[in-house]
Amino acid sequence: MMEKEQAKQLLHTPTKSHNVADEAEIEAFCAAYRSFLDGAKTERDAVKAAVALAEQAGFRPYRPGQLEPGAKVYRVNREKSLLLAVVGQKPLEEGFRIMASHIDSPRLDLKPMPLYESGGLGYFKTHYYGGIKKYQWTALPLALHGVVCLRDGRTVDVCVGEDGDDPVLYVTDLMPHIAKDQVAKKGSEVVGGETLNLVCGSLPFDEEDGVKLRVLAILHEKYGISERDFATAELCAVPAQKSRVVGFDGSMLAGYGQDDKVCAYPSLRALAEVGTPAHTCVVFLADKEEIGSEGVTGLRSAAFADFLRDLCADAGANEREAFRNSLCLSADVGGAFDPSFADAYEAGNSCYLGDGVVVSKYTGSRGKGGCSDASAEVMARVGRMLDDGNVAWQTGEYGKVDQGGAGTVAVEIAKLGIDVVDVGVPVLSMHSPVELTAKADVFAMYRASQAFFREA
Ligand code: MN
Ligand code: MN
Repeated sequence: MMEKEQAKQLLHTPTKSHNVADEAEIEAFCAAYRSFLDGAKTERDAVKAAVALAEQAGFRPYRPGQLEPGAKVYRVNREKSLLLAVVGQKPLEEGFRIMASHIDSPRLDLKPMPLYESGGLGYFKTHYYGGIKKYQWTALPLALHGVVCLRDGRTVDVCVGEDGDDPVLYVTDLMPHIAKDQVAKKGSEVVGGETLNLVCGSLPFDEEDGVKLRVLAILHEKYGISERDFATAELCAVPAQKSRVVGFDGSMLAGYGQDDKVCAYPSLRALAEVGTPAHTCVVFLADKEEIGSEGVTGLRSAAFADFLRDLCADAGANEREAFRNSLCLSADVGGAFDPSFADAYEAGNSCYLGDGVVVSKYTGSRGKGGCSDASAEVMARVGRMLDDGNVAWQTGEYGKVDQGGAGTVAVEIAKLGIDVVDVGVPVLSMHSPVELTAKADVFAMYRASQAFFREA
């Protein structure tokens, strides 16, 4: 038998992400991340913020034509998803390096005919977007973001509730004093979908007409909209507060929509700073992931592969060969182990806040249903790349077997014949109005993105 000290070397000990990074660098990166996050609550806001960042870094709208190594281009897909590339030195047949994340987050969307009044209050009806615990979205200030496309062809931007002086919207909950029947219900039924109604006014128009008419008159004065225009609008209620630092040690961040801006932003920053890479590097910021990646702005849309195909066509490269030799990091958050709800997890195969990026061979539900299950070879390659880049990383499943599960855009990438593995930031309270991450993990995601784009 070998010596005990030697044997102990065989054990795997996780590395804390803050132990392998410079404190000042973590702080500087997270400050920039927070300002992006606070200004990117919806996919439309995120596209605007990302384009501004990209333009500043020298990216230009993509036009077909031969591109030189180092060229930086982007394509906006219908204001709600974004595709960016930095052309590398090697022929495209040697493969793309792609990072795919999503910029939509769970929220409350307004219904097409939202405005009504009841009991002397004005309300908007909502239809929730993404997987939420509905009771979490009551009794908190909500801002309204989106666009209204008017009959005359104009598009009006709406953003109310982000400034301290702005009014906000609000979903009520039943007071505990008289909630005997409510609290006896199952968690999924405590607050129903049709009770997620946004209070938006309380003063009647005059003695004859009510609150609904007054709200409509105010909205018309401010935005030029009539009730009919709601039908052609896209309006979303999102938590109104900005991100905050959490803990006496200031080591964590709480904020809305970190799933998945906490992966989108680091990948974007790394791409913007990559210089002239060996391989052509690509970042996809997709919409609609939270509702299954469907739709023309979701990763199931041809828009994403077409971007790669257009780059291949420009370079006269064999597209299938290029796809076959590509590697993609599906950059999406992992569900971190929550000690207060330990029963839902298998502690030995969970990811932990502060232990670095989480590399998931597979996600899915039940018997790995609905996931892409990366190969051992690809896992080894990514593990090596992270080790060489001095990036703290860990593995982690989404809770214990048969407890539920999750899917990511990895399956959509795999359909293109492109190797893909999930790499992301561990998150607590995922899909709640305020999600929790560790700053050092956010920075680790940036370092992981850099290592990936620089991989030879
Ligand atoms: Mn996600
Ligand atoms: Mn999600």
